[in-house]
Amino acid sequence: MTYTITSRCVGTKDESCVTVCPVDCIHDAGEQMMIDPVECIDCGACVPICPVDAIFTEDEVPAEEVDAIGAARSFFRSDGSS
Ligand code: SF4
Ligand code: SF4
Repeated sequence: MTYTITSRCVGTKDESCVTVCPVDCIHDAGEQMMIDPVECIDCGACVPICPVDAIFTEDEVPAEEVDAIGAARSFFRSDGSS
């Protein structure tokens, strides 16, 4: 289990979530922020602070946003930061 930032972040990307994450696992992925699924400790602190409700646990990600789960996994595998 991990938390996932969906495309709702695009256009806002205010990094509020970054300021509350205790393990600094939220990174700039270009158009939006992304959570490193390996480093996330599932604390949930980032969820209520997001102004656009972009953050979900993996099994609560809305159907139209499921691609965000694989996108985050690929992003952190490919840049070697995980
Ligand atoms: S708080 Fe929400 S909108 Fe802001 S950067 Fe994080 S996920 Fe994106
Ligand atoms: S759930 Fe906690 S550890 Fe995971 S990204 Fe959000 S604030 Fe960071």
